[in-house]
Amino acid sequence: TTQQHLTLNNGLRMPQLGFGVWQVEDDQAYEAVSAALQSGYRSVDTARIYENETGVGRALRDADVAREDVFLTTKLWNSDHGHDETLKAFDASLERLGTDYVDLYLIHWPVPEQDRYVEAWRAMEKIYADGRAKAIGVSNFTARTLGRLLDETDIVPVLNQIELHPYFAQGEMRAFNASNNVATEAWSPLGQGKELLGEPVLARIAEKHGKTAAQVVIRWHLQLGNVVIPKSVTPSRIKENIDVFDFALDATDMNDIAGLDRGGRIGADPATMN
Ligand code: NAD
Repeated sequence: TTQQHLTLNNGLRMPQLGFGVWQVEDDQAYEAVSAALQSGYRSVDTARIYENETGVGRALRDADVAREDVFLTTKLWNSDHGHDETLKAFDASLERLGTDYVDLYLIHWPVPEQDRYVEAWRAMEKIYADGRAKAIGVSNFTARTLGRLLDETDIVPVLNQIELHPYFAQGEMRAFNASNNVATEAWSPLGQGKELLGEPVLARIAEKHGKTAAQVVIRWHLQLGNVVIPKSVTPSRIKENIDVFDFALDATDMNDIAGLDRGGRIGADPATMN
């Protein structure tokens, strides 16, 4: 496998394709991340709330891959917003991960109702200044909440991780991120592997390229410029999902996939998630 990288707005290089571990229990996360590293993934996306940072960290330490060759992301949970709470939550994440830095630390959700994400960001800026996160970013930020962060704080988030798949292509939010030099990272990139992967248009494109529907969707993300972090605990699918660097979708394929957009979320709404 080859990998492709994006250069973030602070100069840090990030693999464009990584491995997600939401809804994977700690022990299983150890197995899955170990399999992913063996298959060539060099980026892992976890979070405090996934309760698997310990398993992820163990897999990184046991692997035949140097720590500095893996891009590790974790996230600040909603109940830990606020300046001192953020610093404390970050220390606890590092401890569970068994490492002295992460590559990327994200605010998981803005929780506008709580209105403490600006405070949390100030603490993240300190963590970044101390070199304990090589980059800081956000997740589930809207034009309103990201706009406010950009207005009121110093460091521009390197990326915004948002729900994004062919059913919910997020054209406006991708453009808003891009216009502010913020990369877009797609969560639930396969639409959680449900109806989306059964779409006839994906089957047709997959057959044309001798690939699977999941590989076509991952390729669509890469060609749009998204960072993409599909999840699987099945070794064959873990391999399948990174075997996407030997073909390309053409403009017609990209257009046909764009036709699936129905503008509806499958996950929580960032305006109300708390
Ligand atoms: P996903 O879109 O990656 O879908 C994963 C599911 O798709 C798997 O459980 C499996 O059922 C199926 N699948 C995977 N590979 C397949 C293949 N090759 N063929 C057929 N089916 C396949 O869903 P996700 O886990 O929700 O999202 C990916 C990652 O995004 C998460 O693990 C997590 O790291 C991140 N995420 C972040 C947030 C956030 O709020 N920031 C929210 C959700 C997810």
